[in-house]
Amino acid sequence: MAVRKAKKQLRVCRECHRVVDGEACVICGTSNLSEDWAGYLVIIDPEHSEIAKKMKITMAGRYALKVR
Ligand SMILES: [Zn+2]
Repeated sequence: MAVRKAKKQLRVCRECHRVVDGEACVICGTSNLSEDWAGYLVIIDPEHSEIAKKMKITMAGRYALKVR
């Protein structure tokens, strides 16, 4: 029987809500990250996305809707 590895919990930047791969946010450079977040958001074209404008996102990427 195959043993499935537990999925690593993704962390999100508390400053800009970006999903972070690693220890620090690529946008803010902060290590102020949270594992307690909800709502997975993929921004492909921030200039033409209403949600991106509302959340002040200027870079394409993966974001969280809510970060606690
Ligand atoms: Zn950030």
